[in-house]
Amino acid sequence: MLVYKNQEEIEIIRRNNLLVSRTLAEVAKLIKPGVTTLELDKRAEEFIRDHGAVPGFLGYGGFPNTLCTSVNDQVVHGIPSDYVLKDGDVVSIDCGTYMDGYYGDSAYTFPVGNVSDEVMQLLRTTKESLLLGVEQAIEGNRVGDIGYAVQMHAEKAGYSVVREMVGHGLGKDMHEAPEVPNYGRRGRGVKIKKGLVLCIEPMINMGTKYIKQDSDGWTIRTLDGKPSAHYELAVAVDKGKADILTTFEYIEEILKKKV
Ligand code: MG
Ligand code: MG
Repeated sequence: MLVYKNQEEIEIIRRNNLLVSRTLAEVAKLIKPGVTTLELDKRAEEFIRDHGAVPGFLGYGGFPNTLCTSVNDQVVHGIPSDYVLKDGDVVSIDCGTYMDGYYGDSAYTFPVGNVSDEVMQLLRTTKESLLLGVEQAIEGNRVGDIGYAVQMHAEKAGYSVVREMVGHGLGKDMHEAPEVPNYGRRGRGVKIKKGLVLCIEPMINMGTKYIKQDSDGWTIRTLDGKPSAHYELAVAVDKGKADILTTFEYIEEILKKKV
């Protein structure tokens, strides 16, 4: 069932997602060689609670933490731990909030120290493919138009698209219909209309598209051990142009200062 939101609901979802954006920026300040992923998680939880929300992931389906921290070959759903980030790592930070009855959900992949040009290119391409997908989130299009745009850009660069994990609707539930795959065919799939709020979240691998799950029951990693990148934005479908409810601006201001 597709749940359409009115403007008031969209504004609550926007507030949630802007808090996620600011939380990710707060985390960005701490990311450097020597910090553990659990330290990032603690800061995120504190920041979210200080701003009147609760962590959206904590306890969701039994997930033990506030952030998903997925390093290098980990695709998504990595559990924060005493793993110490090291120079050259990349870490996908996925964060959710819950406030006023609705969820926020967004993700960004961060370089740690000096990252190889090869891996930086994967990050850039994944973010570009997300933005191309976002452009397709307009009234009258279909979910396949989004997936097609993401897939074409990633595959043209020689990368592969994870199939098993997909984007989703967002609202009173963190995962609502429809599923939003990062692959697809133009003109296929569910028709999207104004009022639908979608999370678009490409997971793009440098090597094979195939993945496996760790014995912790959560962590997803690439089958070949090569790196993966993940970016996520929430958008409200609208006529002509999607209303992007998240922003990477706060994060990228911090990253610019670090260079
Ligand atoms: Mg997410
Ligand atoms: Mg999501």
